[in-house]
Amino acid sequence: MFVGHYGPALAGPRFAPVPLWALFVAVQFLDYLWGAFIALGIEHVRVEPGFTAMSPFDLYHMPWSHSLVMALVWSAVLGLVWAGIAKRSKLAGGLVIAAAVFSHWLADLLVHVPDLPLWPGGPSVGFGLWNSVPVTLILEFGVLAAGWLVYMSATRARGTFGRIGPVILFALLVVTYWISHASTPPTNPAVAGPYVIGVYTLLAFLAWLLCDRVREAR
Ligand SMILES: [Zn+2]
Repeated sequence: MFVGHYGPALAGPRFAPVPLWALFVAVQFLDYLWGAFIALGIEHVRVEPGFTAMSPFDLYHMPWSHSLVMALVWSAVLGLVWAGIAKRSKLAGGLVIAAAVFSHWLADLLVHVPDLPLWPGGPSVGFGLWNSVPVTLILEFGVLAAGWLVYMSATRARGTFGRIGPVILFALLVVTYWISHASTPPTNPAVAGPYVIGVYTLLAFLAWLLCDRVREAR
């Protein structure tokens, strides 16, 4: 899943005062690790055009970033880090960040073919919805839109830009999704890793620019 991951991120501010940029990083944290690990040769991927209807990547080896056990570990680590550095709502904020990190694994479970190990070296799971283009699109944009509506009801604009900022962010997510499918992704893992990390970081920056700066909790 790609933009669907941002649905849970957008719902986060409803439950604790955590900035959207941090939630955007949290929901993609497992993919940040994946990008770093495949670039470093710790995890492995091969490109097979048509591997699923939605993705050419055969993600046959990602025990440290995408196993269930490690997803729980990373969720706890990031939740604790946030609780440590947050100035207020440490417990609620830490829990929301941890839930955001773990939401990535649950969303991946729906769309991935069975390539998500339960633990490093353990059996792999995945419901394979990436094999259907319409189901994937409904899921990606349904979850994204639901999260966006929760965000809009949980926060309010400070000035005019605060009203259009989230609309622009939503549009940019749609455009980014379209570009990522219309273009050929980098196939060299040494490039694909940093590329993924760069795109996610840009989206987190846009969340700060278009939402955090110009909106506040209701
Ligand atoms: Zn992932």
